[in-house]
Amino acid sequence: MPDTRTVRDYIRTIVDFPHEGILFRDVTTLFADPRGFRIAVDQLLHPSAGLRIDKVAGLEARGFIVGGAMAHQLSVGFVPIRKKGKLPGATISEAYQLEYGEAVMELHDDAIEPGERVLLVDDLLATGGTASAGINLLERLGAEVVGCAFIIDLPELGGRKVLEAKGMEVHALCA
Ligand code: IMP
Repeated sequence: MPDTRTVRDYIRTIVDFPHEGILFRDVTTLFADPRGFRIAVDQLLHPSAGLRIDKVAGLEARGFIVGGAMAHQLSVGFVPIRKKGKLPGATISEAYQLEYGEAVMELHDDAIEPGERVLLVDDLLATGGTASAGINLLERLGAEVVGCAFIIDLPELGGRKVLEAKGMEVHALCA
């Protein structure tokens, strides 16, 4: 029998994590499965087939896992976009609003050459705040963000609309 499981079938939902009332989409079960991980990485890259991509940028932390594999597959470099205070070199930073308070993402100021074509990736798109901060950082260094790829989109939280309003191509494997 052929294995017909889709990416969504490998993702589990943890109830009340990290807070009561939250349904947390846990992709560790997808990453732990050899077939699941491969089809996820392949499908994240699918819309970029034939496009020139110079770098993959991943959002901390699960964007590093898929982004590293995607960069390796494309034989291009990988750039991490990290939470405040984690990158060792000189950085630029972008603050964005959370439900309660503010978060800051950072990028090394020499991570991108002007004009480089960059694919941005993360595990999950919710409000789009994290990805928007990542796009702003990349664009401030002169990158052309050619697309944003996510394993999961939670459409009710509106992130896709936020990113599309910034002119982004958004690709998600499941909702
Ligand atoms: P946004 O900024 O509201 O779009 O939230 C997306 C960020 O929060 C991503 O970096 C995700 O990794 C993380 N995130 C939010 N909810 C979940 C979840 O249910 N599972 C995994 N990551 C999540």
